Amino acid sequence: MLWEERWHPLRREWVVVSSHRNDRPWQGETIGDARRALRAYEPGCYLCPGNRRVSGETNPAYAGVFVFDNDHPCVSPSAPSVLEPPVGIYQNRPATGIARVVCFTPRHDVTLAELEHDQFVSLLATLQDQYRELASRPEVDHVLMFENKGEAVGVSNPHPHCQIYATNFVFKTIETEVDASAAHWDKTGRSLFQDIISAEEQDGRRILSRRDGALAFVPYFARYPYETYVAPRATHASIAGLEPAELSELATVLQETLIRLENLWRMPLPYVMVLHQAPTKAANDGRFHFHIEIHPPLRKPGLLKYLAGPEIGGGNFLNDTSPEEKAAELQTVSGVHYKHEAPRG
Ligand SMILES: [Zn+2]
Ligand SMILES: [Zn+2]
Repeated sequence: MLWEERWHPLRREWVVVSSHRNDRPWQGETIGDARRALRAYEPGCYLCPGNRRVSGETNPAYAGVFVFDNDHPCVSPSAPSVLEPPVGIYQNRPATGIARVVCFTPRHDVTLAELEHDQFVSLLATLQDQYRELASRPEVDHVLMFENKGEAVGVSNPHPHCQIYATNFVFKTIETEVDASAAHWDKTGRSLFQDIISAEEQDGRRILSRRDGALAFVPYFARYPYETYVAPRATHASIAGLEPAELSELATVLQETLIRLENLWRMPLPYVMVLHQAPTKAANDGRFHFHIEIHPPLRKPGLLKYLAGPEIGGGNFLNDTSPEEKAAELQTVSGVHYKHEAPRG
């Protein structure tokens, strides 16, 4: 078993090596199975209420949001602290941190987009509490919150849930955004993300949802065909800084955005959704603007955008679609979830 962090000297980033996780349970659906009707409660699901998990623990009969420590953590306080020293210039260190799982609802058969508004608000409030607790730990430098959804992104269980990785390093994309925001601030005296919001509002063609306190848009610089950003209008370093009224509006905009994405092809659209938050130990100086990014990997139903030479080999994306056209498609579909539409006729 190998469980440690290894430094990538060329990319200047940490790689978490956790070979023990390769045997974790697979409950993903096979291709073609995705539209099979799911049951509200699944006896074999390790996330459903009252069921036993691989750790031997039993889930409580939870009614709302349920958080627990990941049974197959990639970072953990129990990661080996004594490591074999690498040769030459190589560096490693313990993969300490905390990995958690957040079940959105006891219902096995719904997606995040189908939740009621108050369930959305309570989920976001739970993430605020999680952030406050995890960010206060001395060993934690960053809190990454994300939802992997759909077999296309390797989800191992259709039960709606997200994950939290509280790590002893800052993820590379966050570092890049921090550096870009700082450089923009030094040059202009303005927040980079506020300038992005201004440019999107000025153009207007890619806005998907808009409220006083939050908005959603396909960014001008989208790398994936249906890539979507959701953000509060006011600048906060993390989700923890939002007042209840802002949180409620963010919930409204996020919900409307996810509904539009699912209505696109009337299916639970696969995506990776990630909350981008400032490093926990960074000064709260208004430079980093908390936002949510949604990256759906599909170009069309059943057709993946494969990452290949330019993306994997070179690190830059080729987007074969027009962000303006993709945003227009999402603006055209209904804001009411297809499963909740009144029957036709
Ligand atoms: Zn379940
Ligand atoms: Zn971001």
